[in-house]
Amino acid sequence: MDRGNLFVMTGASGVGKGTIRARLLEYNRDMYYSVSMTTRAPRLGETNGVDYHFVDRASFEAKINQDGFLEYAKYVDDYYGTPREPVEQALAKGVDVLLEIEVQGALQVADKVPEAILVFVLPPNLSELRRRLLLRGTDSLEKIAKRLLRAKEELGYAERFDYVVVNGRLDRAVSDFAAIIQSERLRPGRMKKAIQRAGSKDAGLEAELDQLVKKLQAGD
Ligand code: 5GP
Repeated sequence: MDRGNLFVMTGASGVGKGTIRARLLEYNRDMYYSVSMTTRAPRLGETNGVDYHFVDRASFEAKINQDGFLEYAKYVDDYYGTPREPVEQALAKGVDVLLEIEVQGALQVADKVPEAILVFVLPPNLSELRRRLLLRGTDSLEKIAKRLLRAKEELGYAERFDYVVVNGRLDRAVSDFAAIIQSERLRPGRMKKAIQRAGSKDAGLEAELDQLVKKLQAGD
């Protein structure tokens, strides 16, 4: 069976990755979203096992030592990582997987899984990003400052990605991302079954066509 595609979405905190992801998963119900593990405290409204697997530092470090992460990174003051096993299982079953992670993690994935498709989501500009982080109201001013600094550094990596999507208008960003997913699914390497099928014959249709040829010949 062909392996699933691994899509990696990266972009600054506050750029709208979560909203884009939710919309993409609505349209691609067969896609598996990898729930990350983090040592960050849950925010209001976040659910363990849905938004993240929230764990303490000791558990996270134990999983690092067991080589249990496809990638992990320290972001601002906390650890974030992609549990390896569920992603491997989905890909092996031919299911497409979506990760939503920061830059260092995305680059680790690119090293380990060269066929992964890396998409960088940009804000229209840094002031807009700052506005979104302030309005979201989920982080202290100090954390927002750290996240903005990190966002600026991360922009330097955008050119190492396969695609760049600007999240100015949400609808546009979602349709751009959906177009990337669709295009990647149409690459010849991922269309092997269709190529094989295109070279095969349909016995029923062939019989009908033989009859047709006979009639045409009889009419000559
Ligand atoms: P937040 O605290 O805002 O939920 O996430 C902070 C940053 O960590 C975001 O850029 C988010 O995409 C990233 N992140 C979430 N999960 C993972 C993960 O599993 N690995 C890595 N490397 N980054 C992650």
